[in-house]
Amino acid sequence: KEYNKGEKSRIDLGGGVIIGGDEVVMMAGPCTVESEEGLFKTAERVAAAGAKILRGGAYKPCTSPYSYQGMGTDGLKLLRAAADKYGLKVVTEVMHVRKVEEVAEYADILQIGTRNMQNYDLLTEVGRCRTAVMLKRGMTAKLEEWLLAAEYIAAGGNERIMLCERGIRTFEPYTRNTLDLSAIPALNSLSHLPVIVDPSQGTGRRELVAPMSKAAVAVGADGLIIEVHPNPDHAIKDGAQSITIETFEKLMPELGAIANAI
Ligand code: PEP
Repeated sequence: KEYNKGEKSRIDLGGGVIIGGDEVVMMAGPCTVESEEGLFKTAERVAAAGAKILRGGAYKPCTSPYSYQGMGTDGLKLLRAAADKYGLKVVTEVMHVRKVEEVAEYADILQIGTRNMQNYDLLTEVGRCRTAVMLKRGMTAKLEEWLLAAEYIAAGGNERIMLCERGIRTFEPYTRNTLDLSAIPALNSLSHLPVIVDPSQGTGRRELVAPMSKAAVAVGADGLIIEVHPNPDHAIKDGAQSITIETFEKLMPELGAIANAI
């Protein structure tokens, strides 16, 4: 689609939360909604630290059919309740066309995961609704393929789209994925869509989350989505890439300083 170079789309989620505006917007929360207590504790603390959006999977795309698949509707309800209590918005994944309506009832942002970036039926379906969409990069997707996937959403009339760089497959097994930070400035010149970065999925290693978050802000990310858990070593899923609440609290002012400096 045509756009004016240098002009970024602003996605207004209400309550003063704007993606693609002047502030780097922080999304934080557990990989998966596991328990009411843990979710509410995390929501309270990340909100107090300055996060604006609560993340959490209720429907989980799992590589193994034997791993935990999420709480489903109950998880969506918990996310909404925790977010409302602490003045946050909700981002959560939708995996199936038949679930779009249900997830949109509870979420402020519909997450399309890496595995579904080229699920054109799903993209068309989220294009029909008016809830904002965060389109994650397919793990082997080129920038052009990713931007064309976004066009499927826009073609349906939903232009409230943000992109999320979450790492790509390379030959390097030390990190779960290779976070492609060059994609951020590249997308900022190729597209008007806001760009979010996921350093948790992007590295798979919690000790790399803070440095890659800082690097992402330095190269122009509009927001970050970070996995935060009260006790990552006991998380049901993705504990290895989840940071503690305390680490998140320490990171926030450091990111603020970088954002102010650029
Ligand atoms: C997630 O954010 O929970 C997730 C599964 O992400 P991705 O689609 O990037 O793997």
